[in-house]
Amino acid sequence: MAEFTMELNDEQKEVRDWLHGFAADVIRPAAAEWDEREETPWPVIQEAAKVGIYSLDFYAQQYFDPTGLGIPMAMEELFWGDAGIALSIVGTGLAAVGVLANGTDEQIGTWIPQMYGDQNDVKVAAFCSSEPDAGSDVASMRTRAVYDEAKDEWVINGTKTWATNGGIANVHVVVAVVDPELGSKGHASFIVPPGTPGLSQGQKFKKHGIRASHTAEVVLDDVRVPGSCLLGGKEKLDERLARAREKAKAVGGVGVPPAEGWGRVKNAAMATFEASRPAVGAMAVGTARAAYEVALDYAKNREQFGRPIIDNQGVAFQLADMRTQIDAARLLVWRASWMAVNGKPFTAAEGSMSKLFASETAKKVTAQAIQILGGNGYTREYPVERMHRDAAIYTIFEGTSEIQRLVIARTLSGMSIR
Ligand SMILES: Cc1cc2nc3c(=O)[nH]c(=O)nc-3n(C[C@H](O)[C@H](O)[C@H](O)COP(=O)(O)OP(=O)(O)OC[C@H]3O[C@@H](n4cnc5c(N)ncnc54)[C@H](O)[C@@H]3O)c2cc1C
Repeated sequence: MAEFTMELNDEQKEVRDWLHGFAADVIRPAAAEWDEREETPWPVIQEAAKVGIYSLDFYAQQYFDPTGLGIPMAMEELFWGDAGIALSIVGTGLAAVGVLANGTDEQIGTWIPQMYGDQNDVKVAAFCSSEPDAGSDVASMRTRAVYDEAKDEWVINGTKTWATNGGIANVHVVVAVVDPELGSKGHASFIVPPGTPGLSQGQKFKKHGIRASHTAEVVLDDVRVPGSCLLGGKEKLDERLARAREKAKAVGGVGVPPAEGWGRVKNAAMATFEASRPAVGAMAVGTARAAYEVALDYAKNREQFGRPIIDNQGVAFQLADMRTQIDAARLLVWRASWMAVNGKPFTAAEGSMSKLFASETAKKVTAQAIQILGGNGYTREYPVERMHRDAAIYTIFEGTSEIQRLVIARTLSGMSIR
């Protein structure tokens, strides 16, 4: 196990500086334009592909860094550049992780390259889990996948919502119900290959922030995919469902809490979700740091009453608090990432803690940055207004702040707090 460290090594510093250069020279200058256009910034994704930032190899390398700092460092730098563009660059990773976590070697080898395309023809992928009536409450998902044994095909019907890259993706990963009796244990993930009939984009959302990232509904109308598109394969699914049915029988049916309460039983599944949360925390740290830097610079240069505004404790102390909270958020994120990579269990929901604190910090710090810039902060001439709009997403996606608190409280107490 790698020792926990608060310092990047020389190799990590080199990668960080390279990413920072890309964020400063390519992403940040394009941010305002793509925010206004509210479109996927294909040319920027292509640039990222050319230099090797848009590829599974790059993220896999960072992920397997035993210090655990590779992914948070990369996310912080890219999102420091701009959150909407950075999400367009890393959004495919959500679907790729879905395949890596559940797919066979053959599925990984077939589908992940098609998610990214190549530098001359970049593609994106989408991970579709949320539905209009199943957001925080994933178990109430309705999209149904039914096996057609005669044709060895799965038939998928339903409507997904809020899918990042939904409808414009080359490959969609869709989570669907295969056994409605089993709640979230009766879900399975499917690849929907490029050009599959029946999959279409529904409404594209006009959003408050991260407007360069495409978010849309995905409608699945009698979508037929080959049996080979079930992630992990049929045999593994049948075994998993049989185990879940046995367990449900043993505790008197799904919905009836076992003697020790749901808290402990659910922890295994929660632990899996927990591992991706520090990465979102790191995105939030990137946005918060960007706004703080703009505010610090502005406060040192803007003069009122014959002196820089930072000369007032009322302004200087805000900046002191902003920086303290950003550093604290980063430490929580790094701790959780180190734990996840080194297989240390999140006994106090450390992954959720990091996401909760970092995302709330980003919202607060970006609002303070607007205040420090005064009227200028409120305009689109300066980037902090955009950063504040962008920051609002971190407390919503990948589990809202309330859901993070629920996970933390349940983990700490071992009780089924509602
Ligand atoms: C820009 C964007 C991109 C997204 N990308 C994706 C994606 O790529 N793929 C995907 O599958 N999903 C994606 N999502 C969906 C996202 O994960 C959900 O929006 C999120 O999980 C919340 O679900 P909801 O919006 O239905 O809110 P709801 O679950 O309806 O929650 C509404 C409010 O009620 C609160 N609440 C709900 N239950 C409880 C409770 N038990 N206790 C206390 N408070 C509670 C919530 O915290 C929230 O404040 C994206 C969302 C957005 C906005």
